[in-house]
Amino acid sequence: MTDRPSRILVAGAGIGGLTCALALQQRGFDVLVLEQATQLGEVGAGFQISANGVHCLHDLGLADALARIATEADGKQIRLWSTGQTWKLFDLGAESVERYGDPDYMLHRADLPGLLAEQVRLHQPAAIRLGARVASLTQRNDHVEVRLENGDHVTGSALIGADGVHSRVRSALFGDTPAQFTGCLAWRGLIRRDRLPAHLHARLGTNWIGPGAHVIHYPLRQGALMNFVGIVERSDWQLESWTQRGSVEECLNDFRAWHPDVHHLIQGIDQPYKWALLSRRPLVRWTEGRTTLLGDAAHPTLPFLAQGAVMALEDAIVLARCLAAHRSDLPAGLVRYEALRHERTSKIVEGSAANAARFHNPLLADPVEAGRYVDREWDAEAVRQRYEWLFRYDATAVDVA
Ligand SMILES: Cc1cc2nc3c(=O)[nH]c(=O)nc-3n(C[C@H](O)[C@H](O)[C@H](O)COP(=O)(O)OP(=O)(O)OC[C@H]3O[C@@H](n4cnc5c(N)ncnc54)[C@H](O)[C@@H]3O)c2cc1C
Repeated sequence: MTDRPSRILVAGAGIGGLTCALALQQRGFDVLVLEQATQLGEVGAGFQISANGVHCLHDLGLADALARIATEADGKQIRLWSTGQTWKLFDLGAESVERYGDPDYMLHRADLPGLLAEQVRLHQPAAIRLGARVASLTQRNDHVEVRLENGDHVTGSALIGADGVHSRVRSALFGDTPAQFTGCLAWRGLIRRDRLPAHLHARLGTNWIGPGAHVIHYPLRQGALMNFVGIVERSDWQLESWTQRGSVEECLNDFRAWHPDVHHLIQGIDQPYKWALLSRRPLVRWTEGRTTLLGDAAHPTLPFLAQGAVMALEDAIVLARCLAAHRSDLPAGLVRYEALRHERTSKIVEGSAANAARFHNPLLADPVEAGRYVDREWDAEAVRQRYEWLFRYDATAVDVA
């Protein structure tokens, strides 16, 4: 099989790979995305994309299409696991646009990659090759050769490993990074609005916090669905997978002492799934010659700041801009990209881990002590310090020269 060496190869058609492919195409690059799955379609779950991530998608000209598939959050709140006491975390909606320039969106995981893939194919109908699992790679002076598991070979002038938490490209470059089980299991599921009492229909992101566990829920598809994520400290399940099924009874049991609203949510899930949360030591560097990584392949993170997919979006835009700015020396562009992204992504990974301890603090067991703890940890200044730097980042403006 012969290929034009000037094109960029992207391993993985997840949110990071597709965003990067589109951003590269818009800058005049020819792109081939290699995706192991035989059809595109994310799992039944949601993600929250804060203003800094939405900004990246708007930069690709997707504002109108995105607004049609996204649900805008009015704000975020904290609730106490036992009494249901509620504290405002921050306003979003118009305030997100006013403060950070863009809205905060909640999206179904099937909808965003669908939109991105459609746009990538508008540029080049054959830009996404499905059933193409990257097996190994060889770096040459002026190109990269990739061998697929089906025996095919493809070449490109650079390779971007956007192949997620189990990245084959990462292990080809840097060896296998052993994953450590965090001691946490994540439950997730979708709930139809008609299965919830009216007081749980609000367009708010809600973080329930409690000793040893927390729950996050937020509306999707204009409120027709509620996304549920419940994280519990439990060591008997260690499989990291989007497709592993659990039962409502088992999930209820993990939250048995929790507020009735949490029980309403769990009872409304048709099919709960469970995912063991693993962590990996951050890479010191993730670029080698003509190959680099982005998103979860480069810096997998715990989901406690809701920034994993957002980081993949930011990476994608910065990387495409760096390659465009260093068109005649792509390895230099990749080095510039890594230098621009390393500190911020490390800080997010650390911040996410710190939130695990914050959300699960043993002080939350006692309602009186919990009240003082929440007032302290979520006071306006503490919240500002934790979130402002995240939401204000502008991937479209960092200096890529
Ligand atoms: C429970 C939970 C909740 C979360 N909530 C949020 C949230 O609210 N907000 C947020 O920003 N983030 C959230 N995240 C994190 C987010 O899901 C990830 O950070 C994000 O999906 C990473 O995107 P990616 O493109 O790097 O990788 P992925 O989305 O994992 O995509 C990788 C792609 O590569 C393909 N692939 C893998 N191996 C190969 C190969 N060898 N060859 C070819 N293709 C391959 C895969 O099939 C896949 O399509 C959450 C994570 C979890 C577990």
